[in-house]
Amino acid sequence: MNKKLSNLKKSFGKIIIISSPSGAGKTTICDAIIKSNKHIVSSISYTTRTLRTGEKNGREYFFISKAEFKKMVKEKKFIEWAKVHNNYYGTPKNLLDKVLVSGKKYILLKIDVQGGMNMKKQYPQACMIFIMTPDIKTLKKRLIARNKDCKEAINTRLNNARQELRYIKKYDYLVINKKLDDAIDAVKAIIKSLEYKIDKRTYNN
Ligand code: 5GP
Repeated sequence: MNKKLSNLKKSFGKIIIISSPSGAGKTTICDAIIKSNKHIVSSISYTTRTLRTGEKNGREYFFISKAEFKKMVKEKKFIEWAKVHNNYYGTPKNLLDKVLVSGKKYILLKIDVQGGMNMKKQYPQACMIFIMTPDIKTLKKRLIARNKDCKEAINTRLNNARQELRYIKKYDYLVINKKLDDAIDAVKAIIKSLEYKIDKRTYNN
């Protein structure tokens, strides 16, 4: 491709941010996306929350203590971090840096809306996708059905969800997860479209 033309698309969409209230299907959708596209790598965050049954340290998250987390914050090891549902979560800088210079891959971040807003400020070209169930009632049903959290945690997650919905307008895309396969297809289509997106930052007539 002509260099001038390829420059227009150079670095768009390298960072894909996916946010959603807890229980809206973000993890399942992201897992399907990662499996289907070898050009996407998933960032693994650090968290101070305890492991859930079936989780493995270094796969879903790196599970660390509050003291270790604080140390990493101090050492500026995170590109962003936030307190979510009474626990700390942070996106490590190292993998993101590697992907950004590699010139090839997309990096997918499954982070909350605070993290989403923080990343948008730092990387305005990031592709921001919000996933939600058709309504809060469905979200509650799913949180109960997945049987991962106690009643108190479910209520915290639902209250947080109401706050999180306010941020939808700050995102580029909203995918309603009514039928899982349709939602996965929608996210795939959004990511596919990034290949054709023009990076306006490099466009100066
Ligand atoms: P969970 O404990 O259910 O895995 O995640 C709780 C919330 O924390 C989810 O909304 C998830 O996307 C968010 N989260 C996970 N990792 C990070 C991170 O590195 N940064 C931020 N800001 N949020 C995160």
